[in-house]
Amino acid sequence: MQSKLSEQLFQKAQQLIPGGVNSPVRAFRAVGRNPFFVERAQGPWLIDEDGNRYLDYVCSWGPGILGHAHPKVIEAVQRVCEKGLTFGAPTAGEVELAELIQACVPEMEMVRLVSSGTEAVMSAVRVARGFTGREKIIKFAGNYHGHSDGLLVKAGSGLMTQSVPDSAGVPAGYAASTLTAVYNDEESVRRLMEENHGQVAAVVVEPVAANMGVVPPKKGFLEFLRRITGDEGALLIFDEVITGFRLALGGATEYTGVSADLHTFGKIVGGGMPLAAYGGRRDIMSCVAPLGAVYQAGTLSGNPVAVTAGITTLKILMEDTGIYERLDRRAAKLAEAYRREGLTVNRAGSLLSAFFAPGWDGDADRLGSREEGGCGIENYEDACKCDKQAFADYFSRMLEHDIYVAPSQFEAMFVSDAHTDELIEMTCGAVRACVRQGET
Ligand SMILES: *Cc1c(COP(=O)(O)O)cnc(C)c1O
Repeated sequence: MQSKLSEQLFQKAQQLIPGGVNSPVRAFRAVGRNPFFVERAQGPWLIDEDGNRYLDYVCSWGPGILGHAHPKVIEAVQRVCEKGLTFGAPTAGEVELAELIQACVPEMEMVRLVSSGTEAVMSAVRVARGFTGREKIIKFAGNYHGHSDGLLVKAGSGLMTQSVPDSAGVPAGYAASTLTAVYNDEESVRRLMEENHGQVAAVVVEPVAANMGVVPPKKGFLEFLRRITGDEGALLIFDEVITGFRLALGGATEYTGVSADLHTFGKIVGGGMPLAAYGGRRDIMSCVAPLGAVYQAGTLSGNPVAVTAGITTLKILMEDTGIYERLDRRAAKLAEAYRREGLTVNRAGSLLSAFFAPGWDGDADRLGSREEGGCGIENYEDACKCDKQAFADYFSRMLEHDIYVAPSQFEAMFVSDAHTDELIEMTCGAVRACVRQGET
C-alpha cells in the first residue's frame, strides 16, 4: 500500500489545521495510524491520493446510503449549481424537501432546515426549553448529539446526577443543566426525573444509539421514555441524525413504533451536502421565530444546492421499495461473519458494530435485553470494556485487505446500497482473515 502523498499532505496539514483534520476522528488516533487523504469516491469505493482503493464501510459517517457519487444526485446538483449557489431568500426546493420529510415521517408536522446535525439538536433543545419554560435536559452517556456546549456533557464518575463537561472550554454552568442517564436503564431516568421534578424540558436520545458503537434500545425502553416524558410534561426528542432514513424511510419511529415530540435529522437528509433538519409537533414548532419567541437562524440554511442533493436522495429512497430489505439482508450477512469469529455484534438494519468483547454470546439481531438473548452491549460502560488494541490491529489488517471500516471501536459500520452481495461476500472473507481475538 502506497502512502507517500497522503503522508506528505498529513505533514503539511498538521502545520495548518489542528491535528491535520477538520473533525477529530479522521485523524485515526484511536487506531494509532496516520490518515489517508481521499482523492475521490465512486459507489462503495474510496480512492486515496496515492491511488489505493478501499471498500468503504464509513460512508462519510452515514450520509452515503446510496454509495458515493450516485449519478442522479450528482447530475441534479450540477444542474442546480448553474442557477446560483445561495440566495438568502426562500426557494421552492425548501418546500419540496419539507414535504418529502413529512411524507416519510408524518410526525414532522413542521420542519426547519439547518446546516449540520449539531445545529439541529442544539436548536431542538432550545425549542423544547422555550416551549416548556424549563431549563434542564436529560441525555444518555455514550449518545452523541453534536458539539454544542450544552450537549458535550458526560456523567461524573459514579454519580449520574453530577454532570461534568466532556470538553475544555464548556462552562460548568452549561453542564449543570444537562443531566446524564444510563442508556437502556429506566431506573436512572426515573431517578433524575424525580430529583428534578417539574424542571426537565426534554429527554434527548438516539433511538438506536450509534455513537458508542451500535446499541439498540432494549425492548420497552423507548416506550418507557415516551411515557415518563408525557407524565412529567417534558418533551421527547429523537436525535435521528444517523437513524433517519437509515433504519427505514420513516426512521426510528417506523422502525421501533415509538413516536417523539421532536426529531432531528442530518447525514442522509442532506444527500452528502451540509444540511440537517429539526421539527415535529406543530404547536411546539410554532415557538420558532418568526412565528414565536425561540430565535434560530442561518445564512446558508436551506441552501439550494444542499436541498437538491437531499430531495434527490430521498426520492431515490422512496421510489426504491426494495432498498431497506436489501440493506438489512446484507448487513445481517456481515453480522453473521463477525459472530462466527466470536465477536459481540449489535445490529439494527444497515447499522452494525462488531465489538471486541468476548464473553457474551452476542447472538442478537434484534431489540431485546441481554437476558432475552438480546444485545450483549447495552450501554456506554459495556462498550468501554472492549479490547481497543485488538480493534486497532483488526482495523489495520482490514485496510491491508483494501477494506475501510471506521477507525474506532465506538463508531458504527454503515452498509450502503452500493455494497453488492459479491462485495459483502468478499468482506466476510476478509473478516475471517482479519479478526483475531486475545492475541494482544
Ligand atoms: C453526527 C451526529 C450529530 C452531529 O451532526 P454533525 O452534522 O456532525 O454536526 C448529532 N447527532 C447524532 C446522533 C450524530 O450521529
